[in-house]
Amino acid sequence: MKKYEDYLIYTRRELHKIPELEFDLPKTINFIATELKKMNYEYKMVLGSIVVEVGINTPVVLIRADIDALPINEENELEFKSIHENKMHACGHDSHGALLLTLLKYIKEEKVEVLGKLICVFQANEEGGPPSGAKNVVEGLNLSYLDLALAIHISPSIEVGVIGLRANEYNANCDGFKVNIIAKGGHAAYPHNTIDPIQIFSELYYAIHLMKTREIDQVEKSVISITKVHSGTAFNIVPDSLSFEGTIRTYNDELRDIIFLKIARIIKSIESLHDIKIDYQPIYGCPSVLNDEDIINLIEKELLKNNVKTIRLKQPAMGADDFSYFSRLNKGVMLSLGVNSNNNMPLHNPRFIMNEAGLIKGLITYDIVLRALKVIK
Ligand SMILES: [Zn+2]
Ligand SMILES: [Zn+2]
Repeated sequence: MKKYEDYLIYTRRELHKIPELEFDLPKTINFIATELKKMNYEYKMVLGSIVVEVGINTPVVLIRADIDALPINEENELEFKSIHENKMHACGHDSHGALLLTLLKYIKEEKVEVLGKLICVFQANEEGGPPSGAKNVVEGLNLSYLDLALAIHISPSIEVGVIGLRANEYNANCDGFKVNIIAKGGHAAYPHNTIDPIQIFSELYYAIHLMKTREIDQVEKSVISITKVHSGTAFNIVPDSLSFEGTIRTYNDELRDIIFLKIARIIKSIESLHDIKIDYQPIYGCPSVLNDEDIINLIEKELLKNNVKTIRLKQPAMGADDFSYFSRLNKGVMLSLGVNSNNNMPLHNPRFIMNEAGLIKGLITYDIVLRALKVIK
């Protein structure tokens, strides 16, 4: 495995140097494609992502590695630090791409017999959707069924080399909304001649949060955060309009619709109260990842048999991942790979550093799961 670990770390560092965003990934795609060509794999581009298919027939298993980075300026002093200003692999997608490349190298060089068909996806735009890179691949490949979708996401909060497992809810539905209040601006000294959008916003802000605490069953976990507010130009002008945006995270699918309807009701009532126009745009983002319980149990058993340490994750994440577009086609599992380092910085932080010593366990996990497919079938 040493040879593959070296390759894994080499490719991870090469990708780390050239972080790119969303669907704009020319250097990243070129690097991965060049490596695939060296290994004699055929690949195709599917709406921004690279897809490699190995084997035929069933079961059909898809492995997803997201390869996009974040608009963050890296503050680490590493020899393989990002060479792109304001772009950084701060979510570990460099290691996801490297893991999938290394798995393909391992399959080829060790002549691993893949049972059924393996669809390997180097996926664009996980962070920046919609449009979601995963949804694009589902539509571009016309995927309507998979026996299993599999992904690993690194986690700096898990001990290095330990695999974090969770059955059922792994993370949250990620939705949002945009609101534009069209009021009536004027001189700040004569507010009675205006309709103040800032005051209307404060009513909406209060009502939305009150709805969340008084109208939603608190047993159902959910979060509403208003995160972006724009209005005003000067201290003596009541602005003409105000726009704001927010995010909604839930686990229960029905609750997504309920919250959207309740926000619409609040907006309508404030609209008629002030006799103004408020535009409201609910945005459905990616659904939550729901891990198949039987497969999680099976993977846990196989990993323990092979001396890979595991831990059961006590809570689902409030974050989200568009891997759900693959996993909700049928069965899916997303696993967490521990890469905890001394600096303890979280994902999406400009000083995030992963402990690369954990990465090889990701490759071992993929190998173990692929070998266990006979049982999954
Ligand atoms: Zn991320
Ligand atoms: Zn991520």
